[in-house]
Amino acid sequence: MNIDHALTSPYWWDAVTTDASRGQLPEDTDVDVVIIGAGFTGLWCAYYLKTLDPDLRVAVVEKSHVGFGASGRNGGWCHAEYPLGHEQLVEDHGHSAALRHMRALFNSVDDVGRITRKEGIECDYAKGGVLSVARSDLQISYAADEVAEARTFGLGSDDIRLLNGEEAREMLNATEVVGGVWHAHGAAIHPAKLVHGLADVVERLGVTIYDSTEVVEFRQGAVRTVQGMVTAQMVVLATEGYTSQLPEGSRRIVPLYSLMIATEPLPEELWQDIGLSDRQTFADYRNLIIYGQRTADGRFAFGGRGAPYHLGSSIKDRFDIDDGVHTELVRALVELFPQLSSYAVTHRWGGPLGVSRDWRPSVTVDRNGGIAFAGGYVGDGVNTAHMAGQTLAELICGSETERTALPWVNHVWPKWEPEPLRWIGINAGLALARSADRTEKRTGRHSRKADLGLWLRGRSRQRI
Ligand SMILES: Cc1cc2nc3c(=O)[nH]c(=O)nc-3n(C[C@H](O)[C@H](O)[C@H](O)COP(=O)(O)OP(=O)(O)OC[C@H]3O[C@@H](n4cnc5c(N)ncnc54)[C@H](O)[C@@H]3O)c2cc1C
Repeated sequence: MNIDHALTSPYWWDAVTTDASRGQLPEDTDVDVVIIGAGFTGLWCAYYLKTLDPDLRVAVVEKSHVGFGASGRNGGWCHAEYPLGHEQLVEDHGHSAALRHMRALFNSVDDVGRITRKEGIECDYAKGGVLSVARSDLQISYAADEVAEARTFGLGSDDIRLLNGEEAREMLNATEVVGGVWHAHGAAIHPAKLVHGLADVVERLGVTIYDSTEVVEFRQGAVRTVQGMVTAQMVVLATEGYTSQLPEGSRRIVPLYSLMIATEPLPEELWQDIGLSDRQTFADYRNLIIYGQRTADGRFAFGGRGAPYHLGSSIKDRFDIDDGVHTELVRALVELFPQLSSYAVTHRWGGPLGVSRDWRPSVTVDRNGGIAFAGGYVGDGVNTAHMAGQTLAELICGSETERTALPWVNHVWPKWEPEPLRWIGINAGLALARSADRTEKRTGRHSRKADLGLWLRGRSRQRI
């Protein structure tokens, strides 16, 4: 198994049309709400705006095509995770608000399934949960701590469960698995089918989407694109990792790259050996994150971090491909499943996701100022963007729901450091995570380098 013959485009894009055929903004236009970015955040926001108020005039302007960003490239984990863990939510906002936030995320996973079924969006949704396997005694201790903390928080065995070695291997027969944790609130999806299906649905509801229409400036009441102006009472920024490229965006949110590979479809006998019979998404407890899913057509889609952060929060197409990181991903996958070594990697790709300085996501609406924003999901954005889009729409329409009072609403981010400090800090964090993994594997003990990496990320508990 190697990357030599792999196509350098997202595997998911094989199933959809990515030719920007919706067309550009033809002339200056006036609407009620203009949304910048046709990913999950922007399209779910458009969907709920039209559901709440069918008469609203809504336009989406997209610099490339629907699903060009992370929403069309991700690992397809539609799961309920707060980037810093619920412990941080408790510390920041107290137990009751934290529990409400987590329950809302859990419900959101089900809502994605319910709405896609209702609207006829075929996106291979399968709610098999999320499996984190432990592959050493050290990782078993992380798994046990996670479940103990979840119980103290108020989650039951219907939400999260500790697995012994046999139970974990029954779900996923990877090498060295000695236990694990199963989280109920997660579904595997085909991200490009979901984002394109959603675009079709919002168009049917009367939303106009303009492809190949790049916003170069926004302010209260209007966005300026290369093709013309769109005036609107409310401007919604749904550009997540790409926000860094907009005026004044570079210290609000940084683009962190995540890279992926996909294998050819694997024979059914092999899947019977490997498992994932309910299409559970899976990861383990290493510091430098890896994530995978069994696709509906029987491939592994497998990704991980480790690609460098680029100076000045730069985003370029060529950063999607990194021979070193893609080779590492292949190595990690074969180490987990040596049976795969004779199968082909058919695709490799990558893309930027958005990280705020305090690693907390935010949904912010200034109704008087006419600007709204949601993002900073730190790689947990598939389900979170659904909840964010819904919350944005509710706040814009002035509705009060169980979501509009959640703690992330109107959370204000500190700014990232100026360069080159930002570059040094983030890349040092990545190097420390990689090095901590090597040390933990060698010694079987927790590495202090992992703690130093957490400190660099501002006490974030998130693995990187
Ligand atoms: C490789 C990878 C794997 C991931 N895996 C997972 C996962 O398994 N589970 C999970 O929960 N999260 C995952 N994530 C994160 C998740 O995909 C994102 O958080 C989420 O999709 C963000 O959605 P969004 O709509 O906010 O942003 P995006 O999907 O990035 O959409 C932003 C859109 O804005 C457009 N845009 C940018 N600038 C402009 C401009 N100036 N004018 C007009 N349009 C503009 C872009 O072209 C883009 O289409 C992953 C991300 C990546 C990159």
